[in-house]
Amino acid sequence: MQGRVVVVGAGAAGIIAAWNASREGAQVTLLEKTDRLGTKILISGGGKCNITHDGPIEDVLKAFRKNEALFIRPACYRFRNYEVVDMLTSRGLEVYTRPDGRVFPVHQTAKDVVAILESYLQDECVDVRMNTPVRRIRVTDGKVAGVETDLAFLPSEHVVLATGGSSYPKSGTTGDGWPWARAAGHTIVPVRPALAPMELVVDGAPLKAGVALRDTVLKARLAPPDSHGPGREIARWRGDLLFTHRGVSGPTVLGISRDVAEQERLGTVTLEVDLLPDETFETVSARVRSWCEANPKKGLARFPEGLVPASLEDDLLAAAGLTEDVRAAQAAKRAVNRLVETLKGWPLGKVREVVLAKGEVVAGGVSLDEVDPQTMRSLRCPGLYLCGEVLDIAGPVGGYNLQAAFATGFVAGETAARDAQGR
Ligand SMILES: Cc1cc2nc3c(=O)[nH]c(=O)nc-3n(C[C@H](O)[C@H](O)[C@H](O)COP(=O)(O)OP(=O)(O)OC[C@H]3O[C@@H](n4cnc5c(N)ncnc54)[C@H](O)[C@@H]3O)c2cc1C
Repeated sequence: MQGRVVVVGAGAAGIIAAWNASREGAQVTLLEKTDRLGTKILISGGGKCNITHDGPIEDVLKAFRKNEALFIRPACYRFRNYEVVDMLTSRGLEVYTRPDGRVFPVHQTAKDVVAILESYLQDECVDVRMNTPVRRIRVTDGKVAGVETDLAFLPSEHVVLATGGSSYPKSGTTGDGWPWARAAGHTIVPVRPALAPMELVVDGAPLKAGVALRDTVLKARLAPPDSHGPGREIARWRGDLLFTHRGVSGPTVLGISRDVAEQERLGTVTLEVDLLPDETFETVSARVRSWCEANPKKGLARFPEGLVPASLEDDLLAAAGLTEDVRAAQAAKRAVNRLVETLKGWPLGKVREVVLAKGEVVAGGVSLDEVDPQTMRSLRCPGLYLCGEVLDIAGPVGGYNLQAAFATGFVAGETAARDAQGR
């Protein structure tokens, strides 16, 4: 049908694509499988929604891997972070920027963000159909012909694919778009977790779920199977770390999860925490020695008091091989060294799994080489436009992923509308 655009998936990318396509004069239908708009926006930022990342676009782009940054660059200049913020604040959202650049609502929540986005769709009279899972994009003679739902076939030569990734499957994102994109001629880069918690191989005492370590550096190491050494460092991240029932989570863990998940032999990746990241081995060593001189009668095991939560002290001491009876005055150099080594690299164990289902985003998806970054047009199938997490894009925590989804959605909607009207 001339002038009609169908957008599949009402997440961050699909909502903006539908709104912008309608602003451009197209007749727009937005199809969503669940009963809610923006289900992932609703759970984003712990329900608060880290809307975007503040600062110059070039700095925002630096957070992404190089090829991803190059790809989203034109879109992020077309729909900048401050334009996302303006869109929301002009309808009553109050936002603030944290010192690290993350933009959040002040008093309101992710619900209010979605409500405002919905009001934009209403103003543009977008035909929004909830509870409408799309089953397939129909491609005829190498071109998009429309979409098939359970109930009907919607003819349209211009379809925006915005079905997201496959993490948090209960939110509706179950990777539906990838087989359709593949059938339309696209390559799907293998999907892997990113920004995800990890499960560890736990041999000894259960982990202290709920306990956090503040401002540490978490490192992942890859040990060759025949080596007994600590292994080559493959990733590190500074920030907080949270113990869970089966492993670890928190900003540091999410930060290195993509690099860890990319290792073929996951069982050989180990994690360790530097508890004193601003100090060198030598300065910590000197600190321990002067503490021993000042406290000759105390047990060396008391040195780490306050460095970790009390409930973790025994685990730390066990890792350092320290018992209560080692007096500071008599502590052998080897015992001091082992304590320092543990403070600078506390081994947490081997990674069993990076948990994709609990990840904030997935890496992998439709290959970026096959989509025009200026327009979001498929380079494989005329009439198909792709945006958001269905593409092989995964930024770090910090509002980057919503920004990428909003920006690519903006461009996809605009192009689809113009193409649909022959402009
Ligand atoms: C717990 C969590 C917290 C997060 N926090 C943040 C944050 O604070 N800041 C940030 O920038 N990013 C955050 N993210 C990441 C961010 O939410 C995603 O990157 C972003 O939502 C991707 O947008 P999208 O539109 O591409 O996909 P989605 O938002 O996932 O939307 C895809 C939509 O398509 C629908 N759909 C799927 N299949 C079909 C089908 N067959 N038919 C019809 N509809 C379909 C889905 O139901 C869904 O509504 C978080 C993610 C999670 C899981």
